[in-house]
Amino acid sequence: MIPGARLIILGRQGAGKGTQCVRLSRHYVVPHISTGEMLRASVREGTELGLAAREIMDSGGLVGDEIMIGIVDDRLSRDDARTRGYILDGFPRTVKQAEALFEITDRLRKPLDIVIDLDVPRDRVLQRITARRVCRDCGTNYVAGPVDRRPWICDVCGGDVVQRDDDTPDAINQRLDLYESQTSPLIEFYGEREMLVVIDGVGHPDEVLNRLVYAIDQRRRPPA
Ligand code: AMP
Repeated sequence: MIPGARLIILGRQGAGKGTQCVRLSRHYVVPHISTGEMLRASVREGTELGLAAREIMDSGGLVGDEIMIGIVDDRLSRDDARTRGYILDGFPRTVKQAEALFEITDRLRKPLDIVIDLDVPRDRVLQRITARRVCRDCGTNYVAGPVDRRPWICDVCGGDVVQRDDDTPDAINQRLDLYESQTSPLIEFYGEREMLVVIDGVGHPDEVLNRLVYAIDQRRRPPA
C-alpha cells in the first residue's frame, strides 16, 4: 500500500505550488486541497461564500480567518483526508489559521508530517505569474508564450484558458506584499516547531518534484 501524507506547502504565489501539489497528490494518492481553488469554485457557483469572497479576492486581500478555518475544518474532517491525508495549498496564510490548524489536527489525532516552504525569489515569481494562464473550468495551469493564444482551449477538458482576474500586476504586487507581511511569520512559526523544510523551487518541475519527495520521505521515515 502507498503510504499517504499530511503536508502543508507554503510559498509565494507563483512559486509552482499548484503544479507540484497536483504531482504530489498523484504520488501519495492524497487529495490536493487548495483553498484558493475552493473559493474560486464558490465564486463560479455563485454561493453565498463566493459572493462574499469575490471582491476580496479580486483586490488581492485575504478572506477572513474564521471563514477559512471553517472551510478547512470541514474539508479535513472528510473521509478521504482522514484516511489518506492531504496536501494543503494556500492554507494556513496567517498565524491564527496555523494555530487553528493545530487544534483541528489534534482533534482528528492526525498530526502534520511536514511543512514545506517552496522557495522561489520574488522577481522570479513575478515573471511567472504574469505569464500564468488557467483553465476556467478544471483549473489546469498553462504558461503563455510571447504571443497570447486567443481563443485558448484547455487540452484536458476543452474549457476556456484565461488569465485569472487576480493576476493583474497591481493585484499580484499586493498579494506578494501580503505574503511577506502575513505569511512569512508562518515560516518562523513552523521553523520554531522544527516542522519546516525549505525546498529550492527553481528548476525543472521534475527536479523540484524529486527534491520534494525526497524531503517528505525522509521526514516520514521512522527514526532509526
Ligand atoms: P490562491 O489561489 O492560493 O493564490 O488564493 C487566491 C485568493 O483566495 C487569495 O488571494 C485570497 O484572497 C483567497 N484565499 C485563499 N486561501 C486563503 C486563506 N487561507 N486565507 C485567506 N484568504 C485566502
